[in-house]
Amino acid sequence: CISPNSQNKHFCSLKSLTEKMEQTFIMIKPDGVQRGLVGDIISRFEKKGFYLKGLKFINVDRPFAEKHYEDLSAKPFFSGLVDYIISGPVVAMIWEGKNVILTGRKIIGATNPAESAPGTIRGDYAIEIGRNIIHGSDSAESARKEIALWFPDGPANWQSSVHHWIYE
Ligand code: ADP
Repeated sequence: CISPNSQNKHFCSLKSLTEKMEQTFIMIKPDGVQRGLVGDIISRFEKKGFYLKGLKFINVDRPFAEKHYEDLSAKPFFSGLVDYIISGPVVAMIWEGKNVILTGRKIIGATNPAESAPGTIRGDYAIEIGRNIIHGSDSAESARKEIALWFPDGPANWQSSVHHWIYE
C-alpha cells in the first residue's frame, strides 16, 4: 500500500499495490495568476484526488520559456506565446495519480477555449487561445521532459494518508 500508515494497510488491495501512478506537469499561466484563479485550479486537482508533488511560483525568462515550448518553435504564434508566458509569474506544479496526464488534460479542456467544454478550466474561464490560463503535459514523454526542466530536484517526497479512500 502507498500509505505509510501501517494501520491502513489492510484497506489496500493487490490492485492498489500494483496500480501505476503517473506524474504530470501543470502550469498556471500569467493570466490565470492575474485573474485570481490559482486557488480554484489547485482545488480542482486536489478535489479530484490527485496528489500535489511539486509547487513553485516563479517568473521565467525568455530562454527558459523557449525551451519549455521548443516543439512549437516553428509556429507563427511562438514569439507571442513566449511573450505571454514571461509576462508575469506562473505557478508550476507536479501532480500525481492514476492516468493524471490524460485526466489532467480533460480537466483543463481543449486548447482553444471556444471549443473547451463547460466544466473544464478553459471552458469555464477563458475565451481566447492565446489567453487560455493553464498548461498540462500532453504525453508521458512530455511530462517527463517538463518535470525535469521545471523541477530538476524532483518532486516533494510525501504520500497521502487517504490513498485507500481514493483507490480500490
Ligand atoms: P496545449 O497547451 O493545449 O497543449 P499546444 O501545445 O498546441 O496546446 O499549444 C501551446 C500553447 O500555445 C496553447 O496552450 C496556447 O496558449 C498557444 N497556442 C496554441 N495555438 C495557438 C494559436 N493558434 N494562436 C495563439 N496561441 C496558440
